[in-house]
Amino acid sequence: MPAPRRSLLDKVWDAHTVRELPSGQTQLFIGLHLIHEVTSPQAFAMLRELGLPVRFPSRTFATVDHIIPTDSQQRPLADALAEEMLVALERSAEEAGITLFDPSSGRRGIVHVIGPELGLTQPGMTIACGDSHTSTHGAFGAVAFGIGTSQVRDVLATQCLAMARPKLRRIDVSGELQRGVYAKDVILAIIRQLGVKGGVGYAYEYGGPVIDAMTIEERLTLCNMSIEGGARCGYVNPDEATIDYLRGRDFAPRGEAFERAAAYWRGAASDPDVSYDDRVELDGGRLAPSVTWGINPGQSAAIDERLPRLSDAPRGQQAQLAEAFAYMGLRPGEPVAGTPIDVAFIGSCTNGRISDLREAARVARSGRVAAGVKALVVPGSQAVARQAQAEGLDEVFRAAGFEWREAGCSMCLAMNPDKLVGRQVCASSSNRNFKGRQGSPTGRTLLMSPAMVAAAAIRGKVTDVREML
Ligand code: SF4
Repeated sequence: MPAPRRSLLDKVWDAHTVRELPSGQTQLFIGLHLIHEVTSPQAFAMLRELGLPVRFPSRTFATVDHIIPTDSQQRPLADALAEEMLVALERSAEEAGITLFDPSSGRRGIVHVIGPELGLTQPGMTIACGDSHTSTHGAFGAVAFGIGTSQVRDVLATQCLAMARPKLRRIDVSGELQRGVYAKDVILAIIRQLGVKGGVGYAYEYGGPVIDAMTIEERLTLCNMSIEGGARCGYVNPDEATIDYLRGRDFAPRGEAFERAAAYWRGAASDPDVSYDDRVELDGGRLAPSVTWGINPGQSAAIDERLPRLSDAPRGQQAQLAEAFAYMGLRPGEPVAGTPIDVAFIGSCTNGRISDLREAARVARSGRVAAGVKALVVPGSQAVARQAQAEGLDEVFRAAGFEWREAGCSMCLAMNPDKLVGRQVCASSSNRNFKGRQGSPTGRTLLMSPAMVAAAAIRGKVTDVREML
């Protein structure tokens, strides 16, 4: 009898199953645990109270990203609380024997940027991190979960998690993306179509010609926002692009060990004709640059569209739409293009990589930041910053009137001094447009690709980047 066809999710799940639990969940071994300064202190404190050591320090890596200022990272940090959190992480990492990428390491950055660029993230792995956007690592064909603080404690203590196996939805994106349309536009379109809760209970497997043609950095953007569509995780099957990306990375295997690993990675991909719990298809060739106009990432419009009218929405959704319009100060039926902005933010674990900065710089070369707009470029890691500087991108941005900052989460979540003020509107390459997300309780966020953010910065309003490329 032929062996049953298995998805990557099945293969990775089965390979990491320690045992099935009476609750119906699986005790799953976690290959890589990434930690940062915000969700780990309490977990370490709980471990100390229980008198437990970190079970696999060599499988745990730490960085500092959320609280780090982006103007000066001189120690001690200007904010005493941020310095205290960094010192606490340094102490916990040292006690446990965990590798910490601190500001002096030259390898520090946003946790979901450094894992891939250092070669820590590899296909066929299970990965956990106390941050919602851990789904990012699925770009390599890993099964990666964002977890809460008590689960961070569990992984530190046991290297395992109790997890329910999600169902699997295959999302095929056909055709070819037009110029000026990016991975960010693809994922915004997917979330818009399926809804912010459409993925609850599912893992997303992305595929089809558009995904196959994407670089690894584009796949990272795509998988990053799986969680915004409600999915537990999202992944792309590993292929030769994945293997090429990993070759020579600091923590990737070397020599013969690399070739052995590559054979395992290729085998982790879903078998052909595997059966999925659900399938969805999108025509990538029809996508245009997208912008969110509301208060969740599902409320987006193509740049050449008008905002929805309340009467067009099903009755059950009208109140939600009215709330979004009231908060954002936008009017139903108006075009999204032309919406004035106050701040432009290029960065985050969604779009703070070198390819993002290159695309934004192409646009920045065409003009200067509009009067009255504050524009920030924040590389996702120290390595991204070095590469950008080597290519002269920092000078391109500065010459256009952008501020060039040091690496960190910055204004994505604003747990550092980079914050919106009052009702400012921010064109942002980050991943969440929730009320107050960028540091002001009344601040407003419009999500878009980094190139679209650069275009908005220069024109002072939401603009179709295709006019500027
Ligand atoms: S950039 Fe934003 S979403 Fe990503 S890890 Fe930092 S705070 Fe979280």
